Amino acid sequence: MHIVKISNWIIKVNTDETTEFYTKDDYIDCSCDYCKNYLLCCDIFPEEIHILFNELCISPKKEGEIMHFNENENGTHFYVPFYHLSGQILSLSEFEFIKQNRKIKIKKLDMLHDYNIEFTESLSLVPENFPEPIIEFSLSLNLPWLFNN
Ligand SMILES: [Zn+2]
Repeated sequence: MHIVKISNWIIKVNTDETTEFYTKDDYIDCSCDYCKNYLLCCDIFPEEIHILFNELCISPKKEGEIMHFNENENGTHFYVPFYHLSGQILSLSEFEFIKQNRKIKIKKLDMLHDYNIEFTESLSLVPENFPEPIIEFSLSLNLPWLFNN
């Protein structure tokens, strides 16, 4: 277990459980061009995003749901990938609580340079047998087009 602090977020990461899940999990195998391009972009993520994935024990080429939204006028593409990790959100002071289907959603956007990160306990598309408790982590970012079809 370790604690990750990112701006106002304080996240407890169950490192052993999360690492074990990602070690066993397969690479994202979607055959669409958007996912193929995203996987190439994982290798050129900014240093701080690499560090963040390492701290969260997530392998960005695995498990995640990759959502592609649009191509920007400058030729970059807007993506929102999200992933799961085993752990807890500890810092609640500035968080927004939204009652939703008897669940409490904890949400905060944090702008770091030109991408957003978000942690929530409101989960979707969690893989079977993912170690609980679970947090969902998402990124919103613009990426170049690297894939040649
Ligand atoms: Zn795809």
